[in-house]
Amino acid sequence: MPPVRESLPSPAVKPAARSLASPVGIIYGVGIERTEMFARLGVRTVGDLLLHAPRRYEDRRKFITIRELELGKSATVFGKIVASGVKRFRGGARSVYEFVLEDGSARLHCRWWNLPFLERLFAVGDEVMVFGKPNLLKPRTMDHPETEKVENGDDITVHINRVVPIYPLTEGLPQRAVRSIVWRAVQEFADQVRDAHPEMDLTAVRTRAAVDAAREQLELEARPLPRRAEAIRSLHFPNELADADRARQRLALDEFVELQLEIQRRRQKLERNARAFPCSGDNRLMKPFLAALGFKLTEAQVRVLRELRADMGGPVPMRRLLQGDVGSGKTVVAAGTALMALESGCNVALMAPTEILAEQLHRNFTRWLEPLGITVELRTGSRKTSRVQGPESQVGLSLGNSGPRTRNPGLPRLVVGTHALLEDSVTLDRLGLVIIDEQHKFGVAQREQLLRKGRDGGRFPHLLVMTATPIPRTLGLTLYGDLDVSVLDQLPAGRARIRTHVRDAAALPRVWAFVRAELEKGRQAYVVYPRVSESDHDEVKAVTKEFARVQKELAPHRVGLLHGQLRSEEKESVMTAFRNGTVKALVATSVIEVGVDVPNATVMLIEDADQFGLAQLHQLRGRIGRGAHESHCILVAEQKTDTAKQRLKVLAETTDGFALAEADLRLRGPGDLIGREQSGVPDFRFGDLRHDRALVEEARELVRKSLGGGSNQ
Ligand code: ADP
Ligand code: MG
Repeated sequence: MPPVRESLPSPAVKPAARSLASPVGIIYGVGIERTEMFARLGVRTVGDLLLHAPRRYEDRRKFITIRELELGKSATVFGKIVASGVKRFRGGARSVYEFVLEDGSARLHCRWWNLPFLERLFAVGDEVMVFGKPNLLKPRTMDHPETEKVENGDDITVHINRVVPIYPLTEGLPQRAVRSIVWRAVQEFADQVRDAHPEMDLTAVRTRAAVDAAREQLELEARPLPRRAEAIRSLHFPNELADADRARQRLALDEFVELQLEIQRRRQKLERNARAFPCSGDNRLMKPFLAALGFKLTEAQVRVLRELRADMGGPVPMRRLLQGDVGSGKTVVAAGTALMALESGCNVALMAPTEILAEQLHRNFTRWLEPLGITVELRTGSRKTSRVQGPESQVGLSLGNSGPRTRNPGLPRLVVGTHALLEDSVTLDRLGLVIIDEQHKFGVAQREQLLRKGRDGGRFPHLLVMTATPIPRTLGLTLYGDLDVSVLDQLPAGRARIRTHVRDAAALPRVWAFVRAELEKGRQAYVVYPRVSESDHDEVKAVTKEFARVQKELAPHRVGLLHGQLRSEEKESVMTAFRNGTVKALVATSVIEVGVDVPNATVMLIEDADQFGLAQLHQLRGRIGRGAHESHCILVAEQKTDTAKQRLKVLAETTDGFALAEADLRLRGPGDLIGREQSGVPDFRFGDLRHDRALVEEARELVRKSLGGGSNQ
């Protein structure tokens, strides 16, 4: 490894050229090898280096003595190596390297398994700081602790005697090399860091307001956030731990501000430039639709339809998110909104993330709208033609590559589909409204693609997106900050009660007996497993394997199998059989999570329930309790960890999907909450959506004020 060159500045870069954009390797002459190591950490320029956040801090102003170490409790101690050596065993195949540290109070054994080369790095007499958890007290021992040698002539203002940053490393790059270079970079360059938007006063934001309830303990004094330059300094070399936290909050706020700027500018551009078809309708189809529904709309549904109608009649294309807990009746609201556009002579497209859901929506909309003379078509990967007959070329919405686009001479129509709607062969004319169900499974790009397809000269379709899963506000503002929000905060009356039970695997025989009894009463059941097929890596149960066992347990009742890897015809035929009651129990993966609506089903049995997120379990539970019979959700899990226990307990005690979503966000983080497929959750370096709700709100307000108003939400 080349020695670190101490001469500053390096001859390759003239002083005038030294800036945040300068390459770290050249500025600090670290050599090619280390330059590559820094690059592996994402650090190329001085600016990158300043944003390379420590993964933790160590308060090296006060060390505890080795004697004071407690079992299982992380701590840093400082001492001198008094013995060092490698022991080999199993014929040399395995080894343990150990040194003994002594600080005058006691001795500490530090061991590393199968890393014999460590012997070359330490010698008797070396002074070393050691961070770790003792796993034995007699003798005091730490396995695989972190170490840092104290070198002769060490700069005590950098490495000791202060709150010291500990950085994420890559192989071959020592902690103190990184720390030394960051120190120099902070001294020389932190002052060059500017606040990106001086017109917004981010320092006016108080940390107290910016602290989540869970962290309030930590920081009770209301101090303003630092400027960005100061935040960079305290991020690396804080005077106190609290300063590091404030620095992180400031840098997180900057990230949220950038995102809000992007979101709110997009919205502003839309309001300035885009025009919509007037689509508020005249009630001529709405009235008979509501009369034929067979139930009265809830107050929440009526209120939301009013909000939607106001948007649909306006000159600016609607951009609205409809949130509502599972079972709150979003589909009816979507149908009502579609009718407004259809009454106004415009076509409507509805996109759903799965074939099963698209087919179910198609079935509902056909039942509701066909009697009113509206044609409802289905377009999925496997179904390319309209089920409802009528020559396609006569209408504006032509499917398949047949026929030229023509103006709409007849009645408008509604097309329901999956992402297949985005294919080039699908043309969408005079599109007044786009509805997207389960928006988060698509992401902004696909949403915009569908809207662009519907663009007609300067006119854009109205947009209604729906989420099957309630979304915590922090995430909502981040993912859907450019949308207005309507909330269905009320469930239709007369819903059967759902009881939730948490059981361990030992209780399965009784659980199966219970399910059989329900089937005997004429009810139906879902049995859900986390996987389609087994994996070599774990013991998680899979539908294809468990199917035979469930058949045996529930004999002689007929059991069906449903998962995402079946062909569409197979999926559809098993769903049909379950819906009409010939199949009594459905063994499925979480494909049934959304949309499936079979009121006679009263049991939701979920095995390995700890594998699912709370929001997902809540959705699954929402498949039952849709009829008049009392329903049971049974969660079977080993609950090995406290978090697993806590999560299932929260679910058993809470039926409010919004509260569950908040809990899930805190317990699992945004990526898992939204689903891995297409989360669209931005990758924040400092921001943490679990805790930073107040900061997200602050960012939104700051940007709103700076852009000059613009009200949404
Ligand atoms: P979600 O909001 O989860 O999409 P759905 O739209 O699937 O809920 O509605 C759940 C069930 O409730 C459906 O069977 C639907 O027909 C029924 N429903 C919707 N609105 C009402 C209402 N106002 N009164 C009674 N039942 C309703
Ligand atoms: Mg739904």
